[in-house]
Amino acid sequence: MTYIAVPIGAASLDLAKRRIKKALAAGAEIIELRTDYFSDLSVALVEQLIAWARQAMVRPVPLIVTCRDQRQGGVESHPERLRVDVICCAIRAGAEFVDFEYDNFLSTENQERIRVALSQTSKSRLILSAHDFESRFADIKKLYRDMLAAAPAAIPKLVYTANHINDCFDALDLLHQTSSERIVFCMGQAGLISRILTKKLGAFLTFASIDDQSGTASGQLTIEQLKGLYRFDEIDSETELYGVVADPVGHSLSPAIHNACFADKGMNRLYLPLLVEDGKPGFDTFLHNVLLRKWLNFWGFSVTIPHKRNALDHVRATGGSVEALAEKIGAVNTLLIEPRGTSDDRRISAYNTDYAGALDAITAGMSLARSGLSGLQVAVVGAGGVARAIVAGLADAGANVKIYNRTVKRAERLAGDFGCEFAGLDALPGLDAKLLINCTSVGMHPNVDATPVPAEYLNKNVAVFDTVYNPAKTLLLKQAKKKRAKTIDGISMFVNQAMAQFKLFTGEGGNRELMRRVVLEQLR
Ligand code: NAP
Repeated sequence: MTYIAVPIGAASLDLAKRRIKKALAAGAEIIELRTDYFSDLSVALVEQLIAWARQAMVRPVPLIVTCRDQRQGGVESHPERLRVDVICCAIRAGAEFVDFEYDNFLSTENQERIRVALSQTSKSRLILSAHDFESRFADIKKLYRDMLAAAPAAIPKLVYTANHINDCFDALDLLHQTSSERIVFCMGQAGLISRILTKKLGAFLTFASIDDQSGTASGQLTIEQLKGLYRFDEIDSETELYGVVADPVGHSLSPAIHNACFADKGMNRLYLPLLVEDGKPGFDTFLHNVLLRKWLNFWGFSVTIPHKRNALDHVRATGGSVEALAEKIGAVNTLLIEPRGTSDDRRISAYNTDYAGALDAITAGMSLARSGLSGLQVAVVGAGGVARAIVAGLADAGANVKIYNRTVKRAERLAGDFGCEFAGLDALPGLDAKLLINCTSVGMHPNVDATPVPAEYLNKNVAVFDTVYNPAKTLLLKQAKKKRAKTIDGISMFVNQAMAQFKLFTGEGGNRELMRRVVLEQLR
């Protein structure tokens, strides 16, 4: 069992009580009382809080009492003697756990007082903790051994800041290589996956906040995110891992839709947001780290900005296979780790589901078969990454494509790669096409009053596809609809490419309606 512990950090007793109530209602499995938040801290106040928390519980929920030293992240500066008094009073009051810093435990006087208090009860257990708010520990394994040597019955807690997702592997390795009760994870946005994977790797607990405002450490998820979005209660040692590799990744809709579909199918799989910074070196090291650790059970990735090209280069350099059209597009958005069997010789295969997702959205929206794209006159506005995937797909299907872009040189390069025509945006008045596709970011939230193509160039005979999906109804689509043109929104493409990824990940079809509903909910 990996408990979800909710830390209560509040400056006043009243606020602490309100937060305890909320934490219990939200499903906290352990409550941590961060008594260092009180400026008027006293032993009497802590006794009062523990007693109040006990009577507020409908079901018994273990308490951790902590009075953190400021040097280890404590909020108020309290004398060491008072902090040890608080720990000893919490033990006497029957707190199931007390958390004390390993560094301070090494002082003979502190150690003696805590040992004596613990020896007088069988109810309380010591958590011996070490934090690094700057970076990784110099030698986490040695620190773990030293902590256990100092107090063999204690639960060691080792928490450090990950400055890059690759820093998480020290924590994950330690969890993998040890089995007794221990608390190990990373702080910071880059450490997020380590908080979730505590469950898979059997850590004693992970921390979660009640809401976005009441977190006590950087990177802490809310209890709702942990239980809802990441299905924490379902995770076990067998859970297969997937994720979206991106920088930034916070805005990605992919964790919500893939996790909803895994849940819908009752699959023991988890999809994580993977913030991979530092461009290609960061990306290469991340994939190397994952491949080295088969026990993590990572099997597939979605890849997005800025790593689509990095992913292709990585797979080429490591002898993996690349889908033919993805090779021509020069970017991939899906990686699979193969084979799944016992072989240690694992390779990555790479795909691009963007172009197929777009083509399927077009054929559905225009009521065409794929063969109907052959000879179709298409105007593509934009010449970036999305335009490239769509132009490649359309050219492959035999469509006649003309690319319009603000930077004409970029349109020329893209047109040259796929045998298309090109022009600047000033040529839009002469637009002659059956399908117009916006592949620019114009019209995207928050600039929802902008459109890449003025309304006067639209008419009912030109279907309009806007790849922008936030908002779903862009100004371009609204104006096209007014002219009674067929419209296709960006969500259709997004859902199609995610459906194709789901099929690659699982071999099964996903739930299209569910995906679309989740995207719309997330955008709201
Ligand atoms: P990108 O590589 O950065 O390309 C951006 C394109 O937009 C370029 O052609 C750029 O023109 C043009 N552009 C940007 N601002 C402009 C402006 N103010 N006026 C005119 N043109 C402008 O981005 P991308 O990866 O191709 O993504 C483009 C859009 O596709 C995203 O914003 C997103 O909304 C959408 N998208 C949709 C999906 C989906 O599944 N539906 C998936 C991914 C992305 P220059 O070359 O002149 O800079």
